[in-house]
Amino acid sequence: MELADLFPHLAGVRIESVFTDGDWVHIHAAAADTQACCPACGHTCRRVHSRYQRRIHDPAIGGRRVMIHLRVRRLFCQNVECGRKIFSEQILGLTLRHARHSVPARQGLAAIALTAGGRPGAGLCGVVALPGGRMTLLRLIRDVPHPQPATPQVLGVDDFALRRGHVYATILIDLDTHRPVDVLPDREADTLAEWLRAHPGVRIVCRDRAGAYAEGARTGAPQAIQVADRFHRWRNLAEAIEATVIRHRAALPEPPPITDAADPLTAPGSVTASAEAEQDTVCVVPALQHPETRIVVRTRERYAAVQQLVGQGRSISAISRTLRLDRHTVRRFARATDLDELLAKTTNRITLLDPYQPYLNQRFNDGHTDAAALYREIRAQGYRGSPQTVRRYLQPFRPTGTELPVAPAAPKIREVVRWILTKPDNLDPDQRQRLDRILARSPHLAAATRHVAAFAEMMTKLTGHRLPEWIAAVTADDLPALHSFVIGIQRDLAAVTNGLTLPHSSGPVEGHVNRIKMLKRQMFGRANLDLLRRRVLAR
Ligand SMILES: [Zn+2]
Repeated sequence: MELADLFPHLAGVRIESVFTDGDWVHIHAAAADTQACCPACGHTCRRVHSRYQRRIHDPAIGGRRVMIHLRVRRLFCQNVECGRKIFSEQILGLTLRHARHSVPARQGLAAIALTAGGRPGAGLCGVVALPGGRMTLLRLIRDVPHPQPATPQVLGVDDFALRRGHVYATILIDLDTHRPVDVLPDREADTLAEWLRAHPGVRIVCRDRAGAYAEGARTGAPQAIQVADRFHRWRNLAEAIEATVIRHRAALPEPPPITDAADPLTAPGSVTASAEAEQDTVCVVPALQHPETRIVVRTRERYAAVQQLVGQGRSISAISRTLRLDRHTVRRFARATDLDELLAKTTNRITLLDPYQPYLNQRFNDGHTDAAALYREIRAQGYRGSPQTVRRYLQPFRPTGTELPVAPAAPKIREVVRWILTKPDNLDPDQRQRLDRILARSPHLAAATRHVAAFAEMMTKLTGHRLPEWIAAVTADDLPALHSFVIGIQRDLAAVTNGLTLPHSSGPVEGHVNRIKMLKRQMFGRANLDLLRRRVLAR
């Protein structure tokens, strides 16, 4: 076997000696050819000006670092018409001008840089015995030619944060190959439109919200069909369901058994929840006293500040700047109908008493029926509500002396939201029974659950033609959060209908957005978009 078979990149040199020194292999070599081509004019030249030695890092051999000591020549360009008088020869497949690494070493380093990023990549270089510091790796990524993938027929568009909540960029994905095609520096309509004009041939644009991307697609590729991604719609529906569960949260706790002597209807202010009590949350909510923990104080202050600025007619962006709050937070505070709704969400509790109900029931059954004493006991355990709440809770059971059920604590809002959004077949029997009992107590939540199931069916069976029917059914019910969801859909009706009819979705985009988050963590704390783009597209 010839040495050139093992080391094809050394075919153009004559090896003069090889020796090892500790971790190093040193190869001394010289150019094998007597002639060389001028890089400016391509003329073949032979007249030597001078010789000098270059040191070039090469990939490791047997775990040892390799240094090639290469004797090269400077030659005169003999083409009289060429502006270049003298040039240094390069060995094809081995050297590049000014490069301290051989061509195969640079390929290895570039692959490490694109995969692992600057700092982790530099560590990896040590492991594979290929010298390359962080700055070398960053330079190599910049030298990678800008990839120009083919224009996709089906384009996915989504945004991602370069810096959390402040600067956004856009990723474009080929939804047929599931590969990224480009990264745009912002999420403006004009930028997307310009890209689409420069890349004609896109038939379908699959995107998230209406607004900038819809407008960009309309002006940049007017012939393309727009599809509002159904998974983004589902996420919005989930938010509307959460708001609905919070509004009807009084229906979540299991009521104690109703006896003749203690009908909850005759016990005003009772914290038990029946279908009737659920209709009128007002009688329950004022009984809740939120503990003045820091999060509650902050929520209350923010709510007041946001509502005041909303009252002055300020925009979400303006409020976000004034109060230095994330836009999503501002929007949530601006939309909330009352403070209690926000607090229920923040503390994720239905009432302050819930966590202590099993304990109270047990003690009551054991004969300890003094409400004031029980209040002191649970206060010692951390209960932050009022003694009146405890008394009201126990009062209906007092005259009968019946056993209180040692009932499970009420489910969390988050749990109930998940149960409603889960296909019933995929719930375990206990969850299903608990959900069924809640829905039996709350006609509103029962209706919302039916609408979720109908929407899920449109999504999975791609029966978007039934959307108007679904919208009419939702509009007929008293479900304000779902009405807001419907208004959002109606603003973008054609694209949402396409999203529920055509098989395309931005699911793959989501995966790439997650990958970008990982790449940013590795390397782009200060998000250099150009470097990020090269790494996103290199795969
Ligand atoms: Zn020349």
